Amino acid sequence: MAAIYLWWIGADAADRDLLEQVRQQVGRTFEAPAVLWDDPSRPTGTYDTRRGQHSSTQILRWLAAHQPPGAMKTLAITDVDLFIPVLTFVYGEAQLGGRAAVVSMARLGDGTARVSPAMVSARLVKEAVHELGHTFGLTHCGSERCVMTRSVNMAGVDRKAAVLCADCRTVYRDRLLEGYDQ
Ligand SMILES: [Zn+2]
Ligand SMILES: [Zn+2]
Repeated sequence: MAAIYLWWIGADAADRDLLEQVRQQVGRTFEAPAVLWDDPSRPTGTYDTRRGQHSSTQILRWLAAHQPPGAMKTLAITDVDLFIPVLTFVYGEAQLGGRAAVVSMARLGDGTARVSPAMVSARLVKEAVHELGHTFGLTHCGSERCVMTRSVNMAGVDRKAAVLCADCRTVYRDRLLEGYDQ
């Protein structure tokens, strides 16, 4: 079975412990091998000087063209702030049913209370699983505990679990059988 690749493309150095937490949960949730891809290549031309943010759509385009060999899906993880034109910011973006997804840590430290590193990593794990879920064809879920629920703020992210609900798990397994693991 081809693997899910996790690729740190942030501006700062990678936090190996954090990436390892994401890797383990991704592997568990999607019942697939998940590996960390070490490559110094970074997307270029994604920065919008007017907004002071990076275009997540352009990052996805770059990622789709730079898939590591043997990758079933590739999730880019970054520390820069992401946007799509109609929104102030996004936590991440994915190609629905495609191969590329991106998730950012830039907003995950937000919140009214003091945010611990453990909380930031828990949030990153959830958003990583969420975006990868989209690449497997999963759409947003109505259950607020499900990782596929759409989160518009940190309270929403904190409320959900890092795993698929029973319904989404059934859909996921059906799609795998349809050949999404190619
Ligand atoms: Zn989503
Ligand atoms: Zn669900």
